Amino acid sequence: MPPFPMGPRSKPRGGGRRPPVPQEDPRQFDSLRASLLFCPKCQTATPARERLLLVIPSGNLYEYLCAHCGTSTGSKTDQAQGEVRLFAP
Ligand SMILES: [Zn+2]
Repeated sequence: MPPFPMGPRSKPRGGGRRPPVPQEDPRQFDSLRASLLFCPKCQTATPARERLLLVIPSGNLYEYLCAHCGTSTGSKTDQAQGEVRLFAP
């Protein structure tokens, strides 16, 4: 199976009229903020281990596991980054 089911995408070569604006996505820090999650088994907030659970076209699904007992304490979905939709110029 090829890793790119939709085929390689050609990237725009900067021929646009506006220079590319670097976007800072604050969501990328979510994993740091969510490093302490309440574990129902430990009955306290524990450091969470982030584990990549599933890769889906709309993003990556992560699961958080309690660092002490391994109980799943949460999950999150990362939106796919770099997805550029070009509408009519
Ligand atoms: Zn625990």
